[in-house]
Amino acid sequence: MERRRIDLHTHSRASDGTDTPAQLMRRARAAGLDVVALTDHDGFSGWEAASGAVPPGLTLIPGVELSAAAPEPGPAGERKINLHLLGYLVDASYPPLAAECAAIRESRVRRARRIVQALTDDGHLVDWERIRKRVHGSVGRPHIAQELVAAGLVDSVSAAFTPEWIGAGGRYYLSERKVPVLQAIGLIRAAGGVAVFAHPGAHGRGATVSDQTIAAMSGAGLAGLEVDHPDHDAPTRARLRSLAGDLGLLVTGSSDYHGDNKPIRLGAELTAEPAYEAILAAGTGCRPVRHTPC
Ligand code: AMP
Ligand code: FE
Ligand code: FE
Ligand code: ZN
Repeated sequence: MERRRIDLHTHSRASDGTDTPAQLMRRARAAGLDVVALTDHDGFSGWEAASGAVPPGLTLIPGVELSAAAPEPGPAGERKINLHLLGYLVDASYPPLAAECAAIRESRVRRARRIVQALTDDGHLVDWERIRKRVHGSVGRPHIAQELVAAGLVDSVSAAFTPEWIGAGGRYYLSERKVPVLQAIGLIRAAGGVAVFAHPGAHGRGATVSDQTIAAMSGAGLAGLEVDHPDHDAPTRARLRSLAGDLGLLVTGSSDYHGDNKPIRLGAELTAEPAYEAILAAGTGCRPVRHTPC
C-alpha cells in the first residue's frame, strides 16, 4: 500500500486560519491528504462543520492547540515561556478543558481590544469592529495583522509579526491567558486526548524552552514532539529528533496551515504512519471522523 499522507496541525476560521472548516476538509483531500487534524487555537467550534464535510478518502482527527506557558530558569531568574500544545482526540465537552479554553478565548478578546487601543493611541487607524467581523472563533494576532494590512500599515500578515508591531515582545505585543504547561498536559490527558508539543524549536516566535523542560513535560505525560514543522531548520529538526528518541516521544510532522494568513500549503510537512497509529491508539476522548454518505 502506498504511504498515507498525514498532516496533523491545521487552522480554520474557527481560529486564525482563513478557510471555513468545510473548505479546509475539501482542500485537504484536494491536496492529496489521507488524514488531517483540525487544531484551532483554544476552541472546538470548527469540529462540527468539519465533521459534516469530510470527503470520501479523508480522515479527520479532531484536535485543539492550547496556549500554555512554562517557567524557565535563567541567569536573570525565572521567566515564563509561551508555548503551544496540540491535543488530539480530546473530549471537547470535558468540563475542565472546555472551561479553560473558554477562559483563554475571553482573555484573547480583552487582549486584542487592548492591542487595538494601543495602536489607536499611537495614531494607527485600526478598527475593532472591522476586526471583530472577521473573527469566527478564537481571536488572535493574525486578525489584527489583517487589519494592519487593510489599513495599509504593513504589506502582509507576516510583516506585522515584527518588533515594531505585534511580534513577540514587540511594541504592541500583549500576552493572553496561558495554562501552566504541566497542567495543560494533564487537562488534555484527562480529556482522553494525546498531547504533542507544537513547533518546540520555533525560535522566530520568541524564546523556546530548554531540553530539561521538555523532559519534565515528558514526565507529565507528553506523547510527542512536532519535529517536522515549517518553522524548524534542519539542525533544529535533528536536535529535536534525537531528544524525542532519548525521551521515548513520538515524532510528528505538520504544515500548521493557516489558509491565506501564511504561505505554507496543506501537506507541506507530514507525519509517519507509526506515530499516527500510536496517537490513534492512545486517544480515547473522541473518534476520528470519516465520510458519511448523505
Ligand atoms: P496569538 O495566538 O494571538 O498570540 O497569535 C499567534 C499566531 O500568529 C500563531 O498561531 C500564528 O498563526 C501567527 N503567527 C506567528 N508568527 C507569524 C508570522 N511571522 N507570520 C504569520 N503569522 C504568524
Ligand atoms: Fe495560529
Ligand atoms: Fe502554534
Ligand atoms: Zn498552529
